[in-house]
Amino acid sequence: MEPVKRICCIGAGYVGGPTCSVIAQMCPEITVTVVDVDEERIQAWNSEQLPIFEPGLQEVVEAQRGVNLFFSTDIDKAVREADIIFISVNTPTKTFGLGKGRAADLKYIEACARRIAQVLSNPEFLAEGTAISDLKNPDRVLIGGDETPEGRRAIETLSSIYVRWVPKTRIITTNMWSSELSKLAANAFLAQRISSINSISALCEVTGADVEEVAHAIGTDQRIGNRFLKASVGFGGSCFQKDVLNLVYLCEALNLPEVARYWQQVIEINEYQRRRFAARIVSCLFNTVTDKKIALLGFAFKKDTGDTRESSSIYISKYLMDEGARLHVYDPKVKKEQIMQDLSRSTASAEEPEPGLSLVSIASDPYEACDNAHAIVICTEWDIFKELDYERIYQAMLKPAFIFDGRRILDSLHGRLQQLGFQVETIGKRISQRIPFTASTIAQLDLQAPPLKKMKI
Ligand code: ADP
Repeated sequence: MEPVKRICCIGAGYVGGPTCSVIAQMCPEITVTVVDVDEERIQAWNSEQLPIFEPGLQEVVEAQRGVNLFFSTDIDKAVREADIIFISVNTPTKTFGLGKGRAADLKYIEACARRIAQVLSNPEFLAEGTAISDLKNPDRVLIGGDETPEGRRAIETLSSIYVRWVPKTRIITTNMWSSELSKLAANAFLAQRISSINSISALCEVTGADVEEVAHAIGTDQRIGNRFLKASVGFGGSCFQKDVLNLVYLCEALNLPEVARYWQQVIEINEYQRRRFAARIVSCLFNTVTDKKIALLGFAFKKDTGDTRESSSIYISKYLMDEGARLHVYDPKVKKEQIMQDLSRSTASAEEPEPGLSLVSIASDPYEACDNAHAIVICTEWDIFKELDYERIYQAMLKPAFIFDGRRILDSLHGRLQQLGFQVETIGKRISQRIPFTASTIAQLDLQAPPLKKMKI
């Protein structure tokens, strides 16, 4: 087998960028070129301001860029020269035609595959936020290929790259379908765990149980394990929903409707959880958020990433905007333009292209977002939200001041927040007594609250 000298990766996104940076670092004698049709993105990869945020990524890129790691828009040249080509383009859910809303749109893959003869399946299992450590120390690397002599040779060549830093026992080779289905099944199982604990969180809220206690109790059972048992506002990200929907579509197309319905329910619980949380905010705020300022803390789909794809924050924002709330959004890593784009895309219609966007402001720090707000809604588990000066925030808010902890990151602070005067609401646990909607509570409401006639009671 000829040693691999040049690797090319088509697609410089959340998968291709970190993966190739780590390959370049682990294989100093191999030249790695990452190409993309998006000129702006390539320019960003070649600048100080990388297009994506991932802990540890900047350091790896700075060490390898210009040495054996290159970013370019010259796709044909890179493809021509490469011994191995990775396709890391996006496969979004189809928005039209057969399988609309469920099947993966493979047009970008096909566009690339047409240039290339042999394509293996080498699904990525990296989690955003920990992509660099996942890549350096993966649980497994999966390589699927045809059971032909060429297929086997291709598998061997690709294995020869990973074997440099991944123990052989963790490199799994399978046939093509096993590899592709393993990727879908892995994400479906993870999403299912989140939906399972979220369904229990709804039950906890009505019975008086605490979902964190339940999660801890069941997680100590080794057969269940304690990971991915965190109740929240629902899962987001580019993979979980897409892969589960893909699985559902595949099952339907292969005439397995029972299996399709089983996995579809994972998505439905996720949507229910988001709706339920938004409805709770409205109900706690005396059944109306119209004209009320709400500070939304966190817009990325999880901490340590700037990625907002399928973020629950988008859906919760949209529900609140539909109710006429004035949203002030703060996220430490997501750019203003991205938030506006996400909110306009999810609410735009032909008749009213940008409805409600005037209701959205982007704050440059969390205190600004909370200033004069009726409520704080935490949607992403960023660590910095645990360290805010809540006394200062409370002073600057309208009263009664509500805090909705959609990620249960303030668990250890809930008591103190209540002492400060906050009405604390969280997922999967009852904390504050609801304030009854009576004349005397109305009298306590801050004078700056909207006039009663505007409230839909
Ligand atoms: P992922 O999370 O899967 O990495 P991203 O959207 O972050 O998804 O990245 C996918 C990248 O692939 C984008 O930068 C996009 O411009 C690029 N891309 C899509 N189609 C092609 C193509 N035919 N040739 C080159 N790059 C492509």
